[in-house]
Amino acid sequence: MPVDAAEKAFLDLVSLETPWALVEEFSRLPRWRPEDVNAGADRIRAMLEGLGVPVVVHEPEIYLSVPLHAEVRLGGGQVFRAKPPSMSLSVPRGIEGELAYLEADPETYRSYTRDPAEIFRDGGADAASRVRGRIVVIDGFANPGSCSLLEEWGAAGVIAVNPGIDIHWGTCTTVWGSPDLDDLPRKPGLPVAAVNNPDGQAIIRAARAGERATLVTEMMEGWYPQKVPVVDIPGNEEAERFVLVHGHYDSWDVGVGDNATGDATLLELARVLWTRRASLRRSVRLAWWPGHSTGRYAGSTWFADAFALDLDENCVTQINCDSPGCRWATGYHQTTCMPEAQAHVRGVIEDVAGQTPKFKRANQAGDYSFNNIGLSSYFMLSSTMPDDVRAQKNYYAVSGCGGNIAWHTENDIIEIADRDILDTDMRVYLLAVLRHANGEVLPVDWRTAVAEFGATLEAYARAAGEHADLSPARASLAALGARLDTLYTAIDARSLGAPAANEALMRLARVLVPINFTREPRFRHDPAYTVPPLPTLAIAAQLAGMAGDRLGFARTQLLRGQNQFVGAMREAERIVQRALDTRADATV
Ligand SMILES: [Zn+2]
Repeated sequence: MPVDAAEKAFLDLVSLETPWALVEEFSRLPRWRPEDVNAGADRIRAMLEGLGVPVVVHEPEIYLSVPLHAEVRLGGGQVFRAKPPSMSLSVPRGIEGELAYLEADPETYRSYTRDPAEIFRDGGADAASRVRGRIVVIDGFANPGSCSLLEEWGAAGVIAVNPGIDIHWGTCTTVWGSPDLDDLPRKPGLPVAAVNNPDGQAIIRAARAGERATLVTEMMEGWYPQKVPVVDIPGNEEAERFVLVHGHYDSWDVGVGDNATGDATLLELARVLWTRRASLRRSVRLAWWPGHSTGRYAGSTWFADAFALDLDENCVTQINCDSPGCRWATGYHQTTCMPEAQAHVRGVIEDVAGQTPKFKRANQAGDYSFNNIGLSSYFMLSSTMPDDVRAQKNYYAVSGCGGNIAWHTENDIIEIADRDILDTDMRVYLLAVLRHANGEVLPVDWRTAVAEFGATLEAYARAAGEHADLSPARASLAALGARLDTLYTAIDARSLGAPAANEALMRLARVLVPINFTREPRFRHDPAYTVPPLPTLAIAAQLAGMAGDRLGFARTQLLRGQNQFVGAMREAERIVQRALDTRADATV
């Protein structure tokens, strides 16, 4: 669907003037210590007020872990510079111990898996027995998945050997947002530090020689008041319903590509949408988060908790804005999007950028703090570097900055931002928000989700072979699919009113998003590691390799998981049926 006149009236207002001023300002303002983060919020607030856009600034206390210092000392007297990831245990006096090296697969640099077979080159065969009481040296980043696994195996500490000449900041906790009492046992209980590759190679040599080392980490940890600026732009027809667009404004160091460009995009969206607010059907809420880097998404998690019931009742979608407008990042081939929104997002990117995007499943990262509530979601990282450009530059994979390896280092400076690419990305976001706020019927197609669920189910069934009977899951999915066909036919024929259709389309997300992305109940938060599709059924894929008692335990798990799945499909069917019952010509 080409851009229409009403959309063009919004897009024509987009300009680089205001957003680029914020990019430049943030390029001089480190935003990771609590007081500097709040200074960043003050700048966002001042710019919004200068534009005449009303802004509310919340100031909750969130739990942060700010890295101050780390180093690795070898017995021979060498001292290596290091960075402790956020939430590492703080051991300013250091721990001393024997080194052990585990060769990790570089392809898992970006994944948050906890599966030893995926993490380690030797499949993790005897990994557990080699780490107990030792300081473990691993390749890659200090990811929460691998660090929590090593802690479980009794490691004394972890040294992550980063792939390049720079050391990347990061986080090593699996706890999503500020911990509650139930989360506390998963808070990391061992020191972790990252080193650059040349230094790491020296440490690996020492480990292979059976040497000992001292690992020092120093953190500042606790509850800190942090500002959360929120702009609410009221719609005119369904004002209580809203689109949530958000991104983090804290960063590692000055973080230009991750995420000053995203903050600038949100600022420009706020300006344009406020200017043309008379033409909005639904409301748009824009939020800038603190605590992304040092609190593992503690800002967005706080918002998800504090406004959970409003989000549940009224939020039609969440759109995350991270790392748009970065140098060389002209591709949309890694676009995060939940299945129901794919047709909508494809249309937006084709209309603005003239490209057909390739979609990826939302991984358990970014500020996706809304999966347990059950919000339809799209975008996380924005445009990214085409694969051939990345290969040409010999860049390893990173999780931001459009693929620039300056990500999470001191090099994420003004050169990482690109004016033209930012201009395109801002239009992509604006058109996506606009169509979601203004479509008479919400632009989500749950038939795409059902098709994806079907493919997942078949893959699990194939892997399980004779060990599992997934026919109840299949039957319930088919029944939902048939009901959805009727729903969309009724929507197209206009025999079903938009209000009832929209209520159903939004309410379906509360059931179908959690069943595909979470294991924890609604209104809680899953840990920060990879969730397989339809997680309650995922154990089916492993049954064939199991024997003895373990097979019985796994079958029990699958029985319960399948009940959850079938229950969810039936609940979704009832939601659709309730909408269909409102048709003027409703028949049984
Ligand atoms: Zn980011």
